[in-house]
Amino acid sequence: MDIRNIAIIAHVDHGKTTLVDQLLKQSGSFRDNQHVAERAMDSNDLERERGITILAKCTSVVWKDTRINIIDTPGHADFGGEVERILSMVDGAVVLVDSAEGALPQTKFVVGKALARGLKPIVVVNKIDRGDARPDEVHNEIFDLFAALGANDEQLDFPMLYASGRQGWADTEIDGPRKDLSPMFDLILRHVPPPQVNKDAPFAMVATILENDNFLGRVLTGRVEQGVAKMNMPVHVLRPDGSVVETGRLTKLLSFRGLDRVPVEEVEAGDIVAVAGLSEATIPETIAALEVKEPLPSTPVDPPTLSMT
Ligand code: GDP
Repeated sequence: MDIRNIAIIAHVDHGKTTLVDQLLKQSGSFRDNQHVAERAMDSNDLERERGITILAKCTSVVWKDTRINIIDTPGHADFGGEVERILSMVDGAVVLVDSAEGALPQTKFVVGKALARGLKPIVVVNKIDRGDARPDEVHNEIFDLFAALGANDEQLDFPMLYASGRQGWADTEIDGPRKDLSPMFDLILRHVPPPQVNKDAPFAMVATILENDNFLGRVLTGRVEQGVAKMNMPVHVLRPDGSVVETGRLTKLLSFRGLDRVPVEEVEAGDIVAVAGLSEATIPETIAALEVKEPLPSTPVDPPTLSMT
C-alpha cells in the first residue's frame, strides 16, 4: 500500500482533535466507541503538564488506497530533540491555524524546525464557520511568519485550504462547495512525497519514540527506513556509535489503523510502526537485521531545552 507520513502542527485549541476526528470518520477509519474512550490526540495531557516525555500520537487513515500516517507534533517545547526526531519520520506537514486567532506563536518553534528540514507545509486555515473569521489576514500572517522563519520560495508558495473541522469540510477556494474533506485528503496525496526508502535492503529502523506498555513491555516506534521486518525476526540494536546494545527478536509488530495499533505479521519500509520484544533498546538507536552493521543517522537525545516563544 502507498504511504504518506505527515506531521500535524497546531496551536492548542485551533481544532486539531476535531479535524483529525473528521478525517478518521470520512475515511471510514473511525469507530464510534473510540470517540468516547479516547479522543484522537488528547491522551497525553497529563504527561505534557508534568513536562516529562511527550509521547507523540500517531493516527492513520486510508484514502484512495494510500495510508496516511498523521503524527501529532508536540507543541512549543523541544524535549531533547523529540521534535526533530518526529519530523525526521515525515515528508510533509499540515500547519493548522484558527481563522480568527491567526498565526501561531506557540508553534513557531516547531514550524521553524519543519521548514529547516525542508518540509513544504500545507496550511489549513480552520474554523472558517466562525463569524469573526479573517482568512485573508491570517493567510498574510502565516506568510510573514514563514518568511521570518527563513522559508524558501517553494515553502512560501504553500498550498492553502480553508476548512471547518467542526462542519467537516475543506476547500482550496473560500467560496468552494464546502462538501467534505476530500480536498484535504487529495492535497495530501498530491503535495506530500511518498517516503524515500529502500524496500530491498535489509530491515532497519530508528527507534524514535519509547514507551512502556503494561502488556507488551518496551515499545519502540519509528519509521522503517529500509527492508521488511517479519514477526519473530532476529534483530540487533545499534547505538549511534555502532556498538551493539542487545540482540533479540521482534515478538510484536504493530501498525497504526485509525486510533489503534494493530498487530501485523510484517512491516515494510516507509511505514511508521511500533515493535516490541527488546529489553534494552532506547532512542535514538537503530533496530536492524543482523547483517546491518552500521546504525542509521539519527538525532541525538539532548537534555531538554525549553523554548518559550
Ligand atoms: P485542539 O486543542 O487543537 O485539539 O482543538 P479541539 O479540536 O479540541 O477544538 C478546540 C475548540 O474549538 C473546541 O471547543 C471545538 O469545539 C472548537 N472547534 C474545533 N473545530 C472548530 C471549527 O471548525 N469551527 C468552530 N467554530 N469551532 C471549532
